[in-house]
Amino acid sequence: MTDCQETIRDLYQYLDRELTMEEVCEVQAHLNRCPSCYELERFESGVIKLVRRDCSSEKAPAHLRERLLSVPRS
Ligand SMILES: [Zn+2]
Repeated sequence: MTDCQETIRDLYQYLDRELTMEEVCEVQAHLNRCPSCYELERFESGVIKLVRRDCSSEKAPAHLRERLLSVPRS
């Protein structure tokens, strides 16, 4: 059984594909039955895709771009 806190803690590693198959299954099982964590996963994976495209997408929703722009870049 995975709860929300654990899922959120693992989510970034999940998105970076740093979890074992077992952990991935646990996160996915939780996302399937928890709408709020599912929403967070959709949002964060969208942000990561944008970052990997170097913020050049014109199709990025405004709220995502605002969030990206507010993050200091190193
Ligand atoms: Zn949850």
